[in-house]
Amino acid sequence: MQGCAVTRRPIRALARFSLGFALVVACLPRDAAADSTPEKQRGMVVAVSPPGADAGRDILRKGGNAVDAAVATAFAMAVTYPAAGNIGGGGFMLIYPPGGKGGPVVIDYREKAPAAAHKTMYTKKDSWYSAKAVGVPGTVRGLALAHEKFGKLKWKDLVAPAVQLAEEGFLIDDALASSLNWIVGGSEEFPELRRVFGKNGEANWKAGDRLVQKDLAATLRRIAEMGADGFYKGEVADLLVAEMKRSKGIITAKDLAGYEAKARQPIHGTYRGYDVYGPPPPSSGGTCLIEMLNVLENFDLRKRDRFSPETLHLMIETMRRAYCDRARYLGDADFVKIPAFLTSKDHARKLAQSIDPRKATKSEELAKDIPLKGEGDSTTHFSVLDSDGMAVANTYTLERSYGSRIVVKGAGFVLNNEMMDFNWFPGETTRDGGIGTEPNQVAPGKRMLSSQTPTIVAKNGKVVLVTGSPGSRTIINTVLCVIVNTIDFEMSLQAAVDAPRLHHPWFPDTARFEGTSSHGEAVERLKAMGHSIGGTRQGDAHSIGLDRKTGKYVGAADHRIDGKVSEQ
Ligand code: GLU
Repeated sequence: MQGCAVTRRPIRALARFSLGFALVVACLPRDAAADSTPEKQRGMVVAVSPPGADAGRDILRKGGNAVDAAVATAFAMAVTYPAAGNIGGGGFMLIYPPGGKGGPVVIDYREKAPAAAHKTMYTKKDSWYSAKAVGVPGTVRGLALAHEKFGKLKWKDLVAPAVQLAEEGFLIDDALASSLNWIVGGSEEFPELRRVFGKNGEANWKAGDRLVQKDLAATLRRIAEMGADGFYKGEVADLLVAEMKRSKGIITAKDLAGYEAKARQPIHGTYRGYDVYGPPPPSSGGTCLIEMLNVLENFDLRKRDRFSPETLHLMIETMRRAYCDRARYLGDADFVKIPAFLTSKDHARKLAQSIDPRKATKSEELAKDIPLKGEGDSTTHFSVLDSDGMAVANTYTLERSYGSRIVVKGAGFVLNNEMMDFNWFPGETTRDGGIGTEPNQVAPGKRMLSSQTPTIVAKNGKVVLVTGSPGSRTIINTVLCVIVNTIDFEMSLQAAVDAPRLHHPWFPDTARFEGTSSHGEAVERLKAMGHSIGGTRQGDAHSIGLDRKTGKYVGAADHRIDGKVSEQ
């Protein structure tokens, strides 16, 4: 079957950029499709970058499984979607084996703080776009670990499409031309980035031009031949360390050689009879998502419209509480003890009871113990399913678009600025969203707290939804919206992905709602309840889901940024 590209619009770039709810017992929505036995169906990859999605699809066609395809797509997108696809960053891959047998696994390839990092290493003068903001990259070790545990095809065959795309180049579309022109035009102080991503060093790309990346091709070839050591040791590592010396960073050869990806147990919860899996710390994604679903399970959301003020109010109050817990408790579990109660139904019930159906809670009231003083297209998520029902949800990132903007000279790849995800200024939790709490302060070798939330929902062992998103702290709430749309409101996958999204991060104490113009009346009611509401676009959620009517899997590329459903 031919993959179908949906219309792509240019990426604008983006530096960052009740009344009377009864508590009810959870009820199961009708879902015949999830209870039936699936007929064997072709696999698919849904990703923001069409050539990236196609690279994974080709691997499926060659007999690779979902993990093989995910590895190929991740490497290919390091070439074709340089704002966020990467080998110089990190992320999380959630793998659901066929029928769930052996249990789902999360490959944690989050970046780590270098050994020389420390709690008070940042001052107000430090730039987000500097070598000091770079964490030890995790992507290549992570992909290698996923392949070692689950892959079927040879490693070098999975890296090969990326090598070819970098070596021979590929034709760019409007969206990529616009993204490259934006970054090249605004990066005078990053000459290597301009050289690598400029059209003869200039910001004048147009759709149909060919982007060739020779240095990156050489780096990828080493990785193809030597495995992850081709990145973490030898020539590429030497180039990275030389770059650190040149740009005054602190990552050493020892930091690189010592980086380990980890296979971890996902956070598991249930929502109205469905199993939901997400990433554990150092991502806050799985924990907060399950906590929020547990709270919402106390209410019969279907009694009201999806975009009624009552439903929106409940969701905002749920988000506010979970994000407060996020700031208070979450960090790298290898360094801090995370309380188990966060994902318990009991804790959720108490939070649900604390919601006033008539009025907004002030965020300040939730955490009197935390002293208070005075988010873009920098991540990308893709979803994969193979014909055996194995699924992969992968989110990886450079933190900001094009990360630190530092391209390793001679190696052709961008370095992340993930250290930004630590709480840079201990003790400084601010009303405008700065977090200074203890669990996520910098320490050597620690992983910074993430919001990435690659998520898989299953029923009776069978995958019903694969989703995830970019967008910093908004990510978890984007995933929450997609799940509520799918399970509670029984929307089709495309409608669930396209529907206006909602976000409340605890601080700043303002909800962001994509539907401010389409649901103006509800917004006025929310304001009357004491909410502050703003409106900005949230991240895209390239997803795969089981269609209730046909019992077949469908892919949904998100209209916010477009993308491609590439079918086997
Ligand atoms: N670095 C962020 C995280 O891991 C993601 C950045 C973004 O999507 O904007 O939570």
